[in-house]
Amino acid sequence: MIDRRHIVPVAVALPVHNTFHYSVPAHLALQACPGKRVLVPFGKRKVTGYLVGPAGEPTAEMDSMEIKHILDVLDETPLFPETMIPFFEWIAAYYIHPLGLVIHTALPAGLNLTDIAVLSIGEAGLAASASSPLSPLEGSILSALAKRPSAIKHLQKEIGQPVSWGLIHLMRERGWIQVDRQIKGRQIGPKTVRWVTVKETAPTSHRLSAQRKIIRNALETEGDLTIPELKTRVPTAPALVRAMQKAGQVAVYEKAVYRDPFGDPIEPDIPPRLTAEQAEAVSATVPLLGQGFKTVLLAGVTGSGKTEVYLRLTRAALDKGLRVLVLVPEIALISQTERQFRARFGETVAVLHSSLSQGERYDQWLRIAQSDATIAIGARSCIFAPFGDVGLIIVDEEHDASYKQEGGLSYNARDLAVVRARHHNALAILGSATPSVQSWYNVSVGKYETASLKRRVNRQPLPAIQTVDLSQSRDDRGIRRYITAPLQQEIRKTLDDGNQALIFLNRRGFSAFPICGQCGQPIRCKNCDISLTLHKRVNAFRCHYCGFSKAAVSSCPSCGSDKIRLLGVGTEKIQEAMTQLFPDARVARMDRDTMTRKGSIVSLLKDLKHRRIDILVGTQMVAKGHDFPGITLVGVVCADLTLNFPDFRAGERTFQLLAQVAGRAGRGDQPGRVILQTYNPGHFSILAAKNQDFKAFFNQEIGFRKALGYPPFSRMIAVRISGKDPKQTAARASALGEKCRDLLTASGPYHPRVQVMGPIEAPLSRIANHHRWQILVKSPDTSMLHRFAHELIMDQRATPAGRQIKVSVDVDPIFLM
Ligand code: ADP
Ligand code: ZN
Ligand code: ZN
Repeated sequence: MIDRRHIVPVAVALPVHNTFHYSVPAHLALQACPGKRVLVPFGKRKVTGYLVGPAGEPTAEMDSMEIKHILDVLDETPLFPETMIPFFEWIAAYYIHPLGLVIHTALPAGLNLTDIAVLSIGEAGLAASASSPLSPLEGSILSALAKRPSAIKHLQKEIGQPVSWGLIHLMRERGWIQVDRQIKGRQIGPKTVRWVTVKETAPTSHRLSAQRKIIRNALETEGDLTIPELKTRVPTAPALVRAMQKAGQVAVYEKAVYRDPFGDPIEPDIPPRLTAEQAEAVSATVPLLGQGFKTVLLAGVTGSGKTEVYLRLTRAALDKGLRVLVLVPEIALISQTERQFRARFGETVAVLHSSLSQGERYDQWLRIAQSDATIAIGARSCIFAPFGDVGLIIVDEEHDASYKQEGGLSYNARDLAVVRARHHNALAILGSATPSVQSWYNVSVGKYETASLKRRVNRQPLPAIQTVDLSQSRDDRGIRRYITAPLQQEIRKTLDDGNQALIFLNRRGFSAFPICGQCGQPIRCKNCDISLTLHKRVNAFRCHYCGFSKAAVSSCPSCGSDKIRLLGVGTEKIQEAMTQLFPDARVARMDRDTMTRKGSIVSLLKDLKHRRIDILVGTQMVAKGHDFPGITLVGVVCADLTLNFPDFRAGERTFQLLAQVAGRAGRGDQPGRVILQTYNPGHFSILAAKNQDFKAFFNQEIGFRKALGYPPFSRMIAVRISGKDPKQTAARASALGEKCRDLLTASGPYHPRVQVMGPIEAPLSRIANHHRWQILVKSPDTSMLHRFAHELIMDQRATPAGRQIKVSVDVDPIFLM
């Protein structure tokens, strides 16, 4: 008989849109609480699921259903708090994504693979195996563990039969065995330093040798010291400390040290005096803490000290006993912001980002889940940090596109920050020098409040931006076509003054448009509908979408000619040009090609910081957040690259990128200068970037969005169809298009509030041999849009034979290519 009093809801980690109910067998009843993983039978399989609610009575309708048992509870402690479940449910509904997969995405990667429980025998277990009556299975478990601690998998092999977690938990409760979690493949633990402390009960010092006395006295007068510090006084300190430890004279403990991106230890900082503007922003926002849900957009020009405002708000939140979540854009290393939080708040900060190893991530995750940390800081996935309650959520550089996850659960962490704040009745702070159109629109309609910082902390004016019309140099030859005379002169001057220059071009490689000089055909990727890029250092043509590579010596695939003309400059060519033009300068490059090795960014930034680099050439990697006082000149080689993308946000992205990269100049004592080369000097995105005036940009852009009914005046959902077979893919796309038209009939509920564009072939119509189509659905009515998309997607799930063709939904899409 199944005990039906314990029915629990389980979301399985599979692409199914329902939760399922299971019963909990008595021996697992204590373990089965929300937030843990369970093993459940599902069809013919056993799958992992998540407990998404407390146990309850079965409902009447369950009476007629067959309810299966949970097979096992997989976690010792919950991986996420029960209070997060409504947040996960909201995400599942909004992004039209199965709840189990939402939770799977939220949890630290590799959890299932890397976290293993190691069992060992306890005192009571040793006693029990000698005296108590044991079942044969218990007997063999104990005798196996008496030989050596073991993971459950190995234990099962050794005793030749399955062992359930239920039994393990029972035996553990009796004190017979211990369960310790171990992470497989943990290589880089937190860096620790060994500290030495005097033991109170230590024998008096007259019995000590002279050298031991020195150590002892140092510890007594100066407090605890590290072994390296002791070594500076007594060279043999490491060995002596070991001996003194044995003799009970001193104790040694380990303490984590935190390091900044440059490998230097992070010292606790002293809060600076706020500027008048900062003080105003702080006193306007602090009183909002603990007063219910609210969103404030902090608009502060580059270098205005937004981080210090975040730090003060965080301090105030902690003082009120609130927990704090801080999101920073994904950059390839720990950001400035993160470093500053560490310096101010030390041990209570947990970090979650992609450069942590899986083991480290898991540790940080548990520290948050178990409330050892009160601040969690990290890139987009940090929005899922398992705090039971949050009082303040900060999103730094809220306009940054890296908050959008592409593929799988396509969420936007910036948007989820506001949603999560609402769920927790918390304060959300979105900060940027170049706020997104969406967020500033929310300010303009009164949904968000705003605070602003209009001046730089160093009182320097914003860098002066001079535009140079590239069409004037169209007929110049060689390097001078794209490094114009004004840019060249400014670089020269910067170098002569002993300052540093940043040269920005948002395109990698040597030539992005190699074309045949004979027949005029571009050299294309064989897997994608896109030009290959020449990379000179490795002497190969490469595809930036699928990674395809072929030797650069090849001839034209169309006509066989070997006269390949190299159009479309990339960072590699600019670097070469800089070396030629300024042979005395030390030139370095920062883009995805040069920054592949772990640690290469760190050493490059270190060189930049210590002025071992005079000119840094780079892609948007250099535009983000860096604070280098030596940079007085920023050169933008071609401002138009992002402007011509077939995407309604092209102007917004161009404006943000240019204003941000310009903001890298003049952050020290000397004013900055920017030379901005462009073919469109009159374009409003470029004019607004020139004045770092996001309101001017917004006022122009919003009219255009309104006229065309684009976000923020509507919401969009992109339905993407991709497959290897061009005919099948096109057929599926057109079938979905038909379905859209059916739903849109004049008599139906969606007409005329929902609009469908497509199906069309995506602008990048083929990537990695997959043909791509898309349908854009938009509506000013969010809930109607969602109902429409739901109907469309649920319907296509019922379509058989769709395995080869992938249909995915992207709610609030950003990447429309
Ligand atoms: P933003 O993020 O607005 O571009 P930052 O937060 O990076 O600006 O601040 C710019 C610089 O000013 C940093 O080096 C920071 O340490 C410094 N800073 C911020 N606030 C103050 C202050 N009140 N007094 C002195 N220096 C400050
Ligand atoms: Zn040709
Ligand atoms: Zn390709």
